[in-house]
Amino acid sequence: MVKNCATCGRIFEDYLDLYKTCPQCRDEENALLRQVKDYLWDYPGTTEGKLRELFGVSHQQVTKWLREERLEITPDSSIKLTCLRCGSMILKGKYCPDCAKRIGAQLNEMKREMSVNKREKTIYSMVIDKEMAPGGKMHFLQNASKYEKHRGEKKGEKEKTSSNSSS
Ligand SMILES: [Zn+2]
Ligand SMILES: [Zn+2]
Repeated sequence: MVKNCATCGRIFEDYLDLYKTCPQCRDEENALLRQVKDYLWDYPGTTEGKLRELFGVSHQQVTKWLREERLEITPDSSIKLTCLRCGSMILKGKYCPDCAKRIGAQLNEMKREMSVNKREKTIYSMVIDKEMAPGGKMHFLQNASKYEKHRGEKKGEKEKTSSNSSS
């Protein structure tokens, strides 16, 4: 599918619908992330203001990397990230381990319910597809079974005649 890059607005092709930004912007973002990561590795106490000054990265960009778990801060970092559910301090991602566990359990519950619904829906749509599709599998199977039956009758006759002639 063809999209507009969320960063630069250029049109780019994204066959699997995986990205919001064009390959150039992604390359630039990855290069920037690498620089920021390396710098934070060497100077864990660096503030976001310092990062903006050095690399031109916004608070939103740093937060996005942290939420996506592409960047991780240390407990003594001056950059702050909080759990979206309970507000406690975290080092990466969206939730603290406690909330992640609870949300994970809820998600599993939802998935289980959804998979049951999905299975029913799939069976239903399979029936519809077979009945509705002209020249679909169902028709083919019906024709095939008729054909087999027809052939079977003929074969039976043949067998009858051949057994008659042999006796
Ligand atoms: Zn772009
Ligand atoms: Zn939490």
